[in-house]
Amino acid sequence: MPEDGLLEERNRRRVIFHSDMNAFYASAEQAERPELRGVPLVVGGHEERRHGIVLAKSAQAKAVGVVTGEALWQAREKCPGLVVVTPRYDVYQKYSRLARRIYYQYTDLVEPFGLDEAWLDLTGTLALSSRSALDVACEISQRVKDELGCTVSIGVSWNKVFAKFGSDYRKPDAVTVVVPDNYRDIVWPASVGDLLYVGSATRAKLHSSGIDTVGDLACASPELLRRRLGKVGGMLRTFARGEDATPVKPFDMARNEVDRTVKSFGNGLTAPHDIACEADARALIWLLAESVAQRLREARFRARTVSVGVRDAADLSGYGRQVTLPRATNVTGRIARAAWDLLVANEPLDDTRPLRGLHVRASNLEPMDAPQQLELAFDPRRRALEDLDEAVDELRRRFGNTCIQRGTELLDESLLDLDVKRDNVVHPVGWF
Ligand SMILES: [Mg+2]
Repeated sequence: MPEDGLLEERNRRRVIFHSDMNAFYASAEQAERPELRGVPLVVGGHEERRHGIVLAKSAQAKAVGVVTGEALWQAREKCPGLVVVTPRYDVYQKYSRLARRIYYQYTDLVEPFGLDEAWLDLTGTLALSSRSALDVACEISQRVKDELGCTVSIGVSWNKVFAKFGSDYRKPDAVTVVVPDNYRDIVWPASVGDLLYVGSATRAKLHSSGIDTVGDLACASPELLRRRLGKVGGMLRTFARGEDATPVKPFDMARNEVDRTVKSFGNGLTAPHDIACEADARALIWLLAESVAQRLREARFRARTVSVGVRDAADLSGYGRQVTLPRATNVTGRIARAAWDLLVANEPLDDTRPLRGLHVRASNLEPMDAPQQLELAFDPRRRALEDLDEAVDELRRRFGNTCIQRGTELLDESLLDLDVKRDNVVHPVGWF
C-alpha cells in the first residue's frame, strides 16, 4: 500500500544515535581522580575472606586480562599494581548526567538506557543543518572526551536496533555508521546473539533452526520463526531487516503513557567465579535490583511481583522463586529486600552450595498512576530522590552501614560488561 511505503520511507530517513560510555564506572573514577588515569584499576567490592569480585575494569586492567566477575585476588595476581576502588554511585550519576547534558544540546529526544547508554534522535536537528550525521557524532564524542574525560562509542543508523549494534561494533572511542548501503556487510554477518533483544534462550532456539547470523534471521521464513518463537519471531526478523520503527522516547518522569507491551524487567549475571559467600550474593542482588528498579522508574512502572533466579555452580541447574508484594513498588530497597529474602530462604550462601548465577526480575507491572502523577508534577526529581533515600534507610536499618555503601553504590547492569546484551536487557515476557 502506498501509505505503508511512505511510512517506510520516512522511517529510513531517521537519524538515530546510540551512545555508549566505554568502561563507564572505571572511566568515571579515572576522570574524577586524575592520579588514577592510565592506571590499571577495577571497581570492586570488599575483599574480605578473598571473596570480593571485580565489578568493572579500566582499559589498562582489561589489557592485562582482568575479567569482570572474577575474584579480586585473582585480578591482583594478573596485575600486581592493580588499584581497587569501591563503587561510588553518586559519581556515576554525575557523569551520566553530564553526558546527557551534552546530548541535550543536540536534541531533546534522548532516551537513556541505563546510566551509560542513550539513544538520540537527530532527525530534526540534521534536517535543519548542512552537517552530516557522522560529523555530529564525532563532535559529540570529542566533547564527551574533552569535557568529561571519558570516551564513548557511537552507533549511527536509521533505527534504534542498528544504532545500538553500531555502538557495540567498534569500541572504545569509535563511531560506526550503519546505513542502507552497508548494513548487509556490517550487521548481517554478526552472530544473531549480537542483536538487541536476542537473549540466550532465543539464540539457542534460532541456532537449532540453523539460524546463526543476523542475516540468517533476516532471510528466514516468517512461518518458521512464528513456529519457533511465536509473535516475537516476526518482531526479531523485522529488527534484523532494519525495519525497527520504534521511536526514541525521551525520559520524562511526568509523562503519561507507558509501554504496555512490557511485561517484566529483569537482570541477571552469570559469574565466572563461584558465589560462595553472603557478601558477594548480597552485592549482586543489590546490583541487579538497582538496575531493575531504575528501569522500572524510567519506564514509569511499579511491580507487584519480584522473582529471583538461581543457577547452581555444581551442575548449572537453575530454579526460580517469586513473591507478591502487598503494594507495587519501584523502590530499589524494596525490590532488593524481596529478592534477598527469597534467596536466603532457599540458599545456604556458603561453600556447601556455591552459585554461579543470579537473576532478579520484577513483573506484575502497574503503570504509575494518575494521583501519583500529580504528586510527581510537583517535583519529580525530589520524589525520585526520596524514594532512593527511603531505600537506603531501609537497607541501613536491616543490614548496617557497610551494606548500604555496597548496596546503593553498586549499580546498573552496564557495570558488568560481562554479558550485557544476553542477560541485561529490558524485555517483554517471552523474549528470552
Ligand atoms: Mg558502556
